[in-house]
Amino acid sequence: MSKNHYKTIIIGGGPAGMGAALTLAKNNADVCVIDKSVFPRNKTCAGLVTGKTFDLIEGLFDGKSTDELFCCTADIVKLFKRTELLTESVLNKPVRLVNRRDFDAALVEEYKRRGGLILEGKKCAEVDYETNTVALSDGETLSYDYLLFADGALSMSHKSLKTDRRSLAFGIEAYIPSEGLDFNSINLYFGYLNSGYAWVFPHGKTVCVGVGGILNKSVDYRGILTGLIQDLGLNAGEVKYTGAFFPYGYAVPQDKLPDNIMLLGDAGGFADPISGEGLYMSIGSGIYAAQAIVSDDPKKTYLNSIKDYITVVKDGKKAQKAFFSGPTHKMLLNKMKGKNEFISFFFEKMVDEYIYGYRDVRKIYSDYKNKK
Ligand SMILES: Cc1cc2nc3c(=O)[nH]c(=O)nc-3n(C[C@H](O)[C@H](O)[C@H](O)COP(=O)(O)OP(=O)(O)OC[C@H]3O[C@@H](n4cnc5c(N)ncnc54)[C@H](O)[C@@H]3O)c2cc1C
Repeated sequence: MSKNHYKTIIIGGGPAGMGAALTLAKNNADVCVIDKSVFPRNKTCAGLVTGKTFDLIEGLFDGKSTDELFCCTADIVKLFKRTELLTESVLNKPVRLVNRRDFDAALVEEYKRRGGLILEGKKCAEVDYETNTVALSDGETLSYDYLLFADGALSMSHKSLKTDRRSLAFGIEAYIPSEGLDFNSINLYFGYLNSGYAWVFPHGKTVCVGVGGILNKSVDYRGILTGLIQDLGLNAGEVKYTGAFFPYGYAVPQDKLPDNIMLLGDAGGFADPISGEGLYMSIGSGIYAAQAIVSDDPKKTYLNSIKDYITVVKDGKKAQKAFFSGPTHKMLLNKMKGKNEFISFFFEKMVDEYIYGYRDVRKIYSDYKNKK
């Protein structure tokens, strides 16, 4: 008979689930990951990996080379007001890009290589919090001591735990063959959405063109993406568009959840409400959950660990309007023109690393001036 009890069950084998699983696997912990997909599987994501995320990935791989995980690097950031170039900034440290299909599969491979167990192609259909059991779509039932939800922005936890899933964003993107194109920088476009932004990122043999922002059912995301592609003179030809939700300014309160339940990554609402960067807090919350489980007081340890993430989400939510619409946004765009060095400083201190928080936006400019 196969085993049906695990100390830790993780629903979802994406970056959040694998952040936890790889960390627990280092301690030979009793873990079972369940994912409804079979890896490699597709995931809509622009794949930008900042310095802080890269450091977490390096930690997961324990010093083993991670070069093969990345499809390219970029060391220039360009900001646009629609298609008008505002700034072109050189980064001291290049950022990296991943193809999520390959990246997520590589994390799962590494976990398996360490002897980790993952049930692929099995959907978690129901959770019984009284008996600490999960029912899989094929009828199998497994029990747990700890259950980690790492099942993405539309996590089943929201229904089964009646948690609130506010402030979702929607993003849509297309991967266009890069042959003959000259997109080697991180290009960010304002003015296409008044609650988000558009982007073109290099991805080796393709470029990722996308738009994303606060979910608004009256916005024609597909039409906006098509408009951007036309404005840039690109030919999307037969290329497919794919869209997905991501959290954008609401971290699910976890203090009232049962003590043995933790929400990770998108399921917990952990994505940056301005940049949309989710990989950092997904992998990070996975690592925190794994460290909490092997601590003396898992619940308290996890709640303490995620405090900084909650601050990023709350402060970023308050800053959304200034970044994307309204008079402050217009003023910022006008003032930004030609400020190449400042944007490089800003990117390094607020995007690549979280050295300044969203409540320090004014301070970052004065610090930059003082530094000069
Ligand atoms: C358009 C777009 C662009 C983005 N670009 C970036 C970017 O450039 N950089 C960045 O850092 N972030 C980006 N993000 C955000 C990033 O993709 C997410 O934050 C990240 O994928 C979250 O990881 P996760 O592990 O929490 O969830 P996911 O990656 O969504 O993984 C969840 C896993 O759970 C599985 N699952 C779901 N339900 C069940 C179930 N019931 N039973 C079993 N398994 C289940 C799924 O199959 C999946 O494998 C982007 C998001 C979007 C939508």
